[in-house]
Amino acid sequence: MRAVVTGGAGFLGSHLCDRLLAENWEVLALDNFITGDAANIAHLSGNPKFHFERCDVSEPLRVEGPTAYVFHFASPASPPDYLKFPIETLKVGSYGTMNALDLARAKQAKFLLASTSECYGDPEVSPQTETYWGRVNPVGPRSVYDEAKRFAEATTMAYHRHHGVDTHIVRIFNTYGPRMRLNDGRALPNFVYQALCGNPITVYGDGKQTRSFCYVSDLIDGIYRLSQSDEHYPTNIGNPTELTIMDFAERIRAYFPKAEKIIHEPLPEDDPKQRRPDIAKAKRLFGWEPKVSLEQGLGWTLDYFKEQFARAAGSR
Ligand code: NAD
Ligand code: UDP
Repeated sequence: MRAVVTGGAGFLGSHLCDRLLAENWEVLALDNFITGDAANIAHLSGNPKFHFERCDVSEPLRVEGPTAYVFHFASPASPPDYLKFPIETLKVGSYGTMNALDLARAKQAKFLLASTSECYGDPEVSPQTETYWGRVNPVGPRSVYDEAKRFAEATTMAYHRHHGVDTHIVRIFNTYGPRMRLNDGRALPNFVYQALCGNPITVYGDGKQTRSFCYVSDLIDGIYRLSQSDEHYPTNIGNPTELTIMDFAERIRAYFPKAEKIIHEPLPEDDPKQRRPDIAKAKRLFGWEPKVSLEQGLGWTLDYFKEQFARAAGSR
C-alpha cells in the first residue's frame, strides 16, 4: 500500500506522512519547498518505507509504480504566504489538483483533498456546517486561496461524478502545532515569535474576530478516519472551541513573563469575523472529535517553538 502525499514537507503534510507510516503505508512525499521545510521530514530519511521527490505538482506528474492513495496537501496556507505567492497558489489549487486527480485516476487510487474553512469566506452563519455555501469575495486579496480551493473542491467532485474516482474532501479549520514555521505569519507563530523576541504582540483590528484552533494530532486523526470512510462530500475537521483573537493573544502572552504589551495593527482586507466548525458530521460518520485542549496543545507547541528559537539563536 503506497500513498503519495503532495506538500509532504509542509506542516500538515509531514504529520500526515508520520501517521501513514505508523499505519504501515509506504509513502512518497512530493514537495517543491515553496513554503515547506526539509527539516520537517529529516527524521524520516532513514526509513525504507519513506521516499521523497522534489517537484512542482502544478507541472504534470510522473510517478512510477503502484499507488493506492493520493493525498493532495500542496498549497501555501498562511495568509502572508499566499499573498506573497498568489499565482503559485492559484496554480497549485487548479493545475496541481487536476494533476493529483489525474494521478489518482491513472493508478485507480483513492484521493483526498486538503480543503479549507476559507471556502466559507467571511460567514454569516456560525458555527459553519458543510451545507453552508459561504461568502467569499471572488476578487479580494484572499481570493487567490479561497477561490483556488473552491475550484479544487469542484474539480474533485467532477472527477468523482464523471470519472468515478473515489474522492474525499476535508475542510480544515485553523490548526496549530509543532513544525509550523515560526515566521509563517499566522497568528500563533507571530504571537510566539514576537513574545520570544521581546517585541509587542500585534493584534489586527480590535481583536474581536474569532477563530477555533485545533491541535495537529487531532486534525490528522480526523483526516485519516475520513480517508478510510465512504464519504465523498466535504467534511469539516476542526476544534469547535471558539475564542477571540484578543483572548488568544492574551493567553499566549501569559506564557511569557517578560512579554511586551499587545498593540493593534490594521485588520487585513476581508479578514473573516468569525470561524467555528460544526463537527456533527464527522462525529456521526466516523466518531471523531478533538481530544487535546487548547491549554495542552499550546504547552506542547510553545515548547517546540522555544527549542527552535534557541537553536536558531545558537547558530547565529
Ligand atoms: P504548509 O505551507 O506548511 O505546507 C504546504 C506544503 O505544500 C509546503 O511544504 C509547500 O512547499 C508545498 N507546496 C506548495 N505548492 C507546491 C507545489 N506547487 N508543488 C509541490 N509542493 C508544493 O501549509 P500547511 O498548513 O501544512 O497546509 C497544508 C494544506 O492544508 C494546504 O493545502 C492548506 O490549504 C490546507 N489547510 C491548512 C490549514 C492550517 O490551519 N494549517 C487550514 C486549512 C487548510
Ligand atoms: N492575526 C493577528 N495578528 C497577527 C496575525 C494574525 O491579529 O500577527 C489575526 C488575523 O487577522 C486573523 C486571525 O488572527 O483574524 C487568524 O489569522 P491567521 O493568519 O492565523 O489565519 P486565518 O484564520 O486568517 O487564515
